[in-house]
Amino acid sequence: MKNPLGIHALVWAGSWNSEHREKAIALSAKYGYDLIEIPLLEPREIDVSGTVKLLEQYNLKAATSLALSPQTDISSPEPDIVAKGETLLNEALLVARDLGANYLGGVLYSALQKYNSPPVEVGRHHCIEVLSRLADKAKQMGMTIGLEAVNRYESNLINTAAQALEIIAETGSDNIVVHLDSFHMNIEEESFSEAITLCAEKLGYFHLGESNRGYLGSGTIDFASIFKSLRDNHYTGVITFESFSSTVVTPHLSNALALWRNLWDDSEKLAHHAKYFMEKHLHSAESPSS
Ligand code: MN
Repeated sequence: MKNPLGIHALVWAGSWNSEHREKAIALSAKYGYDLIEIPLLEPREIDVSGTVKLLEQYNLKAATSLALSPQTDISSPEPDIVAKGETLLNEALLVARDLGANYLGGVLYSALQKYNSPPVEVGRHHCIEVLSRLADKAKQMGMTIGLEAVNRYESNLINTAAQALEIIAETGSDNIVVHLDSFHMNIEEESFSEAITLCAEKLGYFHLGESNRGYLGSGTIDFASIFKSLRDNHYTGVITFESFSSTVVTPHLSNALALWRNLWDDSEKLAHHAKYFMEKHLHSAESPSS
């Protein structure tokens, strides 16, 4: 298995100012990652040319991600909120393209929050309409949109691979893929391998996170089964390590992600370990008998 291995920028730094982005890109390259996932929470604040220069200097690829807020929730029944969300997604898409990324994924379909009720039909319809238009724009730029299934406390719309597939089918777009994350799958799916197999043809991006979102191997997730299933389903896409600590991320995001206790404070040690862990599992999945 030769999947490109990525690391989430928030392992390194909580912002994308010039000091932080240089640190994030340089250290991702130093620890042997192929790609850095850059969150575009405020797309207009990203220094595109400064970032591109660093990516070229360190020979690193970029993917981009985003999570909507209650103010930009395209699954809202309120047209004004939906319009704000569509504007933000369009801005993020242009920034992603200009960064040289061909992927924009994440919670692009609803707010990242605990909802107090199930999705409503009109909101779901809004979501599908906006995603379909976004995918059309992305297609003209040769880009792919990813819908990350997240757990029930972070969205009410797409919690499973099956639900992601349903929404994708309803958009009618062929450049929207399923984005799975082992941390969320661990809460919502019946099994890792069944979920991966179900969406294999549409699986376009994979987040590797532990059940406690800390060090890979320090929780309850069966990574051997995940890597075996990715191999069995011929998944050749990106696998990105994702872990968060309030030592690094801003208090606002830290609260949104419910980081109530810290599992690490040394980014380099964590990233070094994760790269080793991923390589080891890729190798074992390749030659299961050894
Ligand atoms: Mn994730």
